[in-house]
Amino acid sequence: MRSELTKHIFTACMVVFLMSFGLILYVMNTYLAQRNLAELQDKALFFLAVTEKNGWESLSGAEIGNYNRITVIAPDGNVLYDSAFPAKQLPNHSDRLEFRDALRNGQGFSERYSESLLKKTLNYAVKSKDSNMILRVSAERDTVWMLLIRMLSPMLTIVFLMVILSVLLAFFSTKKIMKPINQLDPENPDDRNIYDEMKPFVRRLILQNQQIHRQMDQLQEEHKKQDTIRREFTANVSHELKTPLTSISGFAEIIRDGYVQEKDISHFADNIHKEAQRMIVLVNDILKLSRLESGSLEIGNEREKIDLFAVCRSIQERLALSAGKQGVMISCEGEEIMIMGIPNILDEIIYNICDNAIKYNQPGGFVKILVRKQDAEAMVAITDNGIGIPEQDQERIFERFYRVNKSHSKEVGGTGLGLSIVKHGMALHHARITLESKECEGTCVRLYFPG
Ligand code: ADP
Repeated sequence: MRSELTKHIFTACMVVFLMSFGLILYVMNTYLAQRNLAELQDKALFFLAVTEKNGWESLSGAEIGNYNRITVIAPDGNVLYDSAFPAKQLPNHSDRLEFRDALRNGQGFSERYSESLLKKTLNYAVKSKDSNMILRVSAERDTVWMLLIRMLSPMLTIVFLMVILSVLLAFFSTKKIMKPINQLDPENPDDRNIYDEMKPFVRRLILQNQQIHRQMDQLQEEHKKQDTIRREFTANVSHELKTPLTSISGFAEIIRDGYVQEKDISHFADNIHKEAQRMIVLVNDILKLSRLESGSLEIGNEREKIDLFAVCRSIQERLALSAGKQGVMISCEGEEIMIMGIPNILDEIIYNICDNAIKYNQPGGFVKILVRKQDAEAMVAITDNGIGIPEQDQERIFERFYRVNKSHSKEVGGTGLGLSIVKHGMALHHARITLESKECEGTCVRLYFPG
């Protein structure tokens, strides 16, 4: 019986069968006991009538039947007559329960186990009308235990039949209960041909199916979206690479065809070099982005404890020269704050934002880096008073290759990928970013890292 359900049904059947069996035995035994007593009473009354009419001496020859013993006792407890033993040998009976009750109430009953628990003696005593004697009839009866032993083999047969019947019942009930469940089509559950207890389960199944379908639709949608993004990205990358390559090809062609004078060759070579450099920067940015997106960190890029302020200081120092060339002042203020981060990526994030703040600035402008604790977070704020970002572009500048002013970005060496790298790097740090900007006034980017 491997099935749990079959086991339960079998147990239930057995419990019901055995309890019914036990109850029936109990009722039968009670009934038999009452019958025994009634029989004993009848006999006692019969022999009392005989004794009252003919005297107890007449009992000697009477047919009293098996297992029955008759005793005639005087009101003082002395035995006058006993059918089983000579009366003189018997002790005074005044302490016997049935005798005392009969003396007091006219009749008395008692039962005593004799020798073992398997047999017991029933005693019934009645008082004669003239109260001169008590007549007692005793009978030996089997106890329930004896009955059980006697009926062992039929009872074992009954229990055996019960077991067989329970097994069959359990087996067929399980089959009947399981049939609609097994016939249920999980793809297309139908709650019409099913019994009431199963309906909540089937309804849940239906709901779950709907949910799965919805999620599958969403996944498909997501898949399509990602596919479009990937295709757009490939197109963008090709386009971005094509422009410098076309220039390089063009310059090389006119040099090859001898259209360039000797003195101008270095100028053209410089252009070729610049375009090639732009391509290197672009390819590097694409590689960085794809590594960040796939979430695979290079060896040596593990998280460690880093001081945010030291990172910002180092960036300020590295950018000070190029900022100075554009007439922009870059400063860094704050305190030491330790966070868990990936040093290379953290550097890349803050560097890109500071670089933008310089690139999209004006001579005489400033870039201020501020590092400080804010509640449970560590905050880095990069503020500039540069050209600012128009409101409608603010959401989109984190997209790949999105630039507010493409030619300006190219002029200052931008690839349009810097903020995409920032966005992915921040996600890796479970950090958030906010941006406030006003055209012609400046921009403030805030980075919040979990402390
Ligand atoms: P790019 O390589 O072009 O700088 P980014 O992804 O770093 O690409 O930035 C996207 C665009 O957001 C830039 O082209 C620029 O138009 C705008 N931008 C970013 N930072 C600033 C800033 N501090 N001030 C004004 N414009 C900004």
